[in-house]
Formats: sequence, C-alpha cells, structure tokens
Amino acid sequence: MRNSDVIIIGGGLAGLTAGIHLSKKGFFVTIIEKNDFPKHKVCGEYISNEVMLYFNWLGIDLSDLRPTTISKLQFSTVNGTIINAKLPLGGFGISRFELDFYLYKKAISNGCSILQEEVEDVVFDSNTFAITTTNGSILKSEIVIGAFGKRSNIDLRLNRKFIQQKSPWLAVKAHYKGDFPNDLVGLHNFKGGYCGVSKVEKDLLNICYLVQYEAFKEYKNTIDFQNLVLKQNPHLNEIFENSKMVFEKPLTISQISFEKKDPVENHILMIGDTAGLIHPLCGNGMAMAIHSAKLVSDLLCKFKTKEIKSRDELEKEYTKLWNHNFKSRMKSGRLLANTLLKPKLSEALLRILIVFPFLLKTIIKKTHGKPIEVNNLC
Ligand SMILES: Cc1cc2nc3c(=O)[nH]c(=O)nc-3n(C[C@H](O)[C@H](O)[C@H](O)COP(=O)(O)OP(=O)(O)OC[C@H]3O[C@@H](n4cnc5c(N)ncnc54)[C@H](O)[C@@H]3O)c2cc1C
Repeated sequence: MRNSDVIIIGGGLAGLTAGIHLSKKGFFVTIIEKNDFPKHKVCGEYISNEVMLYFNWLGIDLSDLRPTTISKLQFSTVNGTIINAKLPLGGFGISRFELDFYLYKKAISNGCSILQEEVEDVVFDSNTFAITTTNGSILKSEIVIGAFGKRSNIDLRLNRKFIQQKSPWLAVKAHYKGDFPNDLVGLHNFKGGYCGVSKVEKDLLNICYLVQYEAFKEYKNTIDFQNLVLKQNPHLNEIFENSKMVFEKPLTISQISFEKKDPVENHILMIGDTAGLIHPLCGNGMAMAIHSAKLVSDLLCKFKTKEIKSRDELEKEYTKLWNHNFKSRMKSGRLLANTLLKPKLSEALLRILIVFPFLLKTIIKKTHGKPIEVNNLC
C-alpha cells in the first residue's frame, strides 16, 4: 500500500470533513474508521448554519437529503416555564445516519481511501507515525489527525488526562413520528439533565437527552426514566405522549466527558470531540468539529507549501488557533450547563431572560461561533 500523506483516525463528522478538504487540496488521505456506514449516532442532530459557507467551498450540498430549516429556539425549565427566541444564525436538522453517509461517499469520490478497521495503537518515532489496527495492519505516515470522537481506546492508549476521571454523563436518543414544528429546536430541562427535540429529514422527530448518571441510576430503564422524570416537564410530557418511537429501542452512550483536552498530543493533531466536546445544549458540537477540520486542513496545506516550516510550528499554530476559536465557547457552555442543572438558579435565570430577552441572544452568541470563513484558505 502507498504511504498516505495524512492518516485520519476516525471517520465521523470531523474526520470525513478533514478528508474531503485535504483530498480537494491534493493530499493522499487514508481515513481509518472502525464502524461501517450508514449508522445512527447519539446526537441532537441540529447543526448550526456556521458551517454553510465552508460546506459550499467543499462542494457539500445536502439539499437532496431535505434537511429541515430551523430558526427558532424554545427553552423550558423543569417546571415548564418557557421562553422562545429566534436563533440569530439558525441551522438545520439532519440525521447523522444521512449526514455521515453523505460525507463518507463524498470523501471516497474525492479520492480518500477508507479503511474499515479499528486502530489499536499509534507510535511516533523518527518523525513518522506507525499505526497498528486490531486486524494487524500497520500503516505509516508523517501526519496523523486524531478524529476518534469523545472517547476511544486510543485515549486510553495515549493515557490522556480526561480518561483518568469517571464522567457522570450518559445520553439517550431515538427517532419518533409525531407533530412538531419543522423550524423549531426545543431544549427542555428535567431533573438531572436536558432534552433536545427537533425535526430532521423525512418528517422524523429526533429526541435526544443528556442526563447525569446519579439522576438516572435509581430507575430500571429508559422507559421508566422518561415516564417518571422527563415527563415531569409538561412540554416533554406533551411531546412524548404525542409521538411514537420508530427505532426498535433508543440508542444510549455513557461516560461522556466535557473535561478539557489538549488539541495536540503525542504529535497527533486532534479535531472534533477528540480535541474537546462542548455541552450539547449549545447545539454547536458538530459545527465545531467541522470548523476544527478546516483549521487543521488549512494549516497542513501551509505545511506542505513550506509556509509553515516545522512540525513544532504546525503544532503551536494549531493549538493557538483551536484556543482562539473554541476555548471561550467551551467555558461558556460549561457555565451554562452548570446553571441549568440547578433548578432554582435556572428558574431565576429564565425569569430574568423573560424580562430582558436581549440577554438570551447574548448567551446564544457566547456559545456559538461566526460563519466559518473561507476567504483566506491556502
Ligand atoms: C447527547 C449529545 C447530543 C448532541 N447534540 C448535538 C446537536 O444537536 N448539535 C451539534 O452540533 N452537536 C451535538 N452534539 C455534539 C456532536 O455529536 C459531536 O460534537 C460530533 O459528533 C463530533 O464529531 P466527531 O467527528 O468529533 O466525532 P464522532 O462523530 O463521534 O466520530 C468519531 C469516529 O471515530 C471512530 N473511532 C473511534 N475510535 C476509533 C478507533 N480506535 N479506530 C477507528 N475509528 C475509531 C468512531 O467509530 C466514530 O465514527 C451532541 C453530543 C451529544 C453527546
């Protein structure tokens, strides 16, 4: 096998986007993804319009998939106090099943090679990476991008700091049939967590919630938890009562960490959730994953043309850009999530927002980015 210019570990949103960008710029890219396509993923499936200019630049056109256009936010506290707002930039609703599959096909048509194997180990030595997969393949490359998501065996292998700590979060998601406005994303609090509700393509309703393990563990299963806890919020009660699940059973994931991570470790350039996961209530993780793919790809173009002269400069530049674009958003996300999990505080915040609605716009802006720029790409 020909050595790749770049190997990307993980073919999710971030990895596939970086693959599409780099192959457009003439790199020979191999993406290693352990799962097959298409596949459902636990995600709120609301994606901010921040990505649109960049998607156009990459030649990504999702219109055939018929995503919903989302322009409004409805937020409620545990007791059901509600506030409505316009989303300054807006976004769209599309399932990860369709979105990731589209990007996978686009990456292949751009010339990326996609290997369906699980990476077991990554070793950096003498300016070269050697990647071993569980099937025994060994691949070599000068550059490796880590796009292996929020939690992976590679994090353990690299002994990353965040993986040493237990994370208290788990998440549940399923698609439903039911009445819900196409242009709305609902964010509803319940004891111990919050739930996102929005329409995706094919008139499907995506319901996805994040909850602290402590709040969940005394219930036997997701059905009991939904009936006894989520439905305490009258808006969630109405939504669940009027919709029918189309999945056989909901998807669940656990050990979700929002701890700080480093964007470069062991010389691997980390993108997407591998570099840091923002609280989903910000509705911004996918846009950040895509944005970080752009940042790293553009720097690699500059590295190839020798505008960036060394690996050290590349790593420093990427860390600087990552922090500049995402660090304060992540902080605001953490602060907001902590506030919303305290029922009294969240009720008080909502009452303030009802009186001063402009403050909500400020909060949304603090947790969102601007449209991803494409003007000065290398
Ligand atoms: C509950 C919840 C709700 C969310 N809701 C929203 C939302 O509404 N809007 C939004 O913008 N964001 C949301 N997010 C965030 C969003 O889902 C993520 O930010 C996004 O999926 C990041 O993409 P990624 O490519 O970094 O990771 P992923 O999409 O997780 O991709 C990582 C890939 O790496 C692969 N992989 C892992 N280890 C290996 C290995 N060893 N070898 C090979 N492959 C490997 C995995 O199989 C996976 O395909 C939500 C997150 C959660 C937890």
